[in-house]
Amino acid sequence: MRHANTAIFVPHNGCPHRCSFCNQNAITGQAKQPSPADVEQAAKRAAETLPKGVTAELAFFGGSFTAIERNYMVSLLKAAQPFLQAGVFSGIRCSTRPDCIDADILSLLKDYGVKAVELGAQSMNDDVLRRNRRGHTAADVERAAGLIRAAGLSLGLQMMVGLPGDTPNGAWETARCLAALGPETMRIYPTIILSGSLLASWYQEGTYRPLELGEAVEICAGLLSFFEGESIRVIRLGLHSSPELERERLAGPWHPAFRELCESFLYLRAFRREWQKAEEVCTAFVNPRDLSAAVGQKRGNVRTLEQEGLHLSIRTKENVPRGWVEWKKNEIIRRCCIFDRPGQGAQNVSDAKEEVAVCG
Ligand code: SF4
Repeated sequence: MRHANTAIFVPHNGCPHRCSFCNQNAITGQAKQPSPADVEQAAKRAAETLPKGVTAELAFFGGSFTAIERNYMVSLLKAAQPFLQAGVFSGIRCSTRPDCIDADILSLLKDYGVKAVELGAQSMNDDVLRRNRRGHTAADVERAAGLIRAAGLSLGLQMMVGLPGDTPNGAWETARCLAALGPETMRIYPTIILSGSLLASWYQEGTYRPLELGEAVEICAGLLSFFEGESIRVIRLGLHSSPELERERLAGPWHPAFRELCESFLYLRAFRREWQKAEEVCTAFVNPRDLSAAVGQKRGNVRTLEQEGLHLSIRTKENVPRGWVEWKKNEIIRRCCIFDRPGQGAQNVSDAKEEVAVCG
């Protein structure tokens, strides 16, 4: 079953101040606040256009939803109710700050059909949080995550990579702390410098250096592998592409297909690992939807392997699960996952079929 969000942005609404890196007007491409009529209109559009077989949620993003003026917040939630009742949306999700969660607000959200709350954690290092003007601590993240789970809501967490004061080891420490909170979903954002942000002035003064694209891909690929290996779905990796983002982006490791770059990194790692073990193998099969990531941008993975003396043909098969590689050795079909699944290496499979769809 495929899934889609209909996003309604409430840019910076409810935020007590601006965090160092944030410019929601650039990220969301929107300056004005939505009205209940805007919610209705977006929901009607979704009802008319969502393909059959796609489950959808209505999502309030781009601000601190639980901290916005209460009557206004309720008016937005009320506008969505007929569409929840008609089954257009399976539920509502919202994003907010960890210090704007308490049992009362969660109970109110549940009354209006909210099923998931995403917390902008960004880091679990208090120095990094302080330096980036977050205005909350790691303990606030732990407390809010516990309340959301105790309320029976789905917990989503967001983290950033490359913030001022952070390090790759720090990002890994944050990832481990967040995974321990039991989220269902994660979003990972490499830090991008947006005009109008405090970070932009630090960059222009020369006191902040963003990650290079390659560094960000390496760190984020590792984190993707870690979370997926822990069965925590990474539902976003990198900021969405938009004309506003293009205009307002000053520097930083941005790429329109950032997730695919990370997946390509993991496919290359898997090919190298398995090739050393089975040098006679020269054909690898992947799911058709993963072909582009497996081959790499501009066939980068294939060319890199060739330079290393490995001539690999990458082909597709419908029954290879996404994120897996399949190959044949001594007439036995084997598969491995590109993510770090604890205690699981390559394995023999019995449900593999021989037909081949596309050559990569
Ligand atoms: S990062 Fe979140 S809390 Fe901070 S200013 Fe942006 S929307 Fe508000």
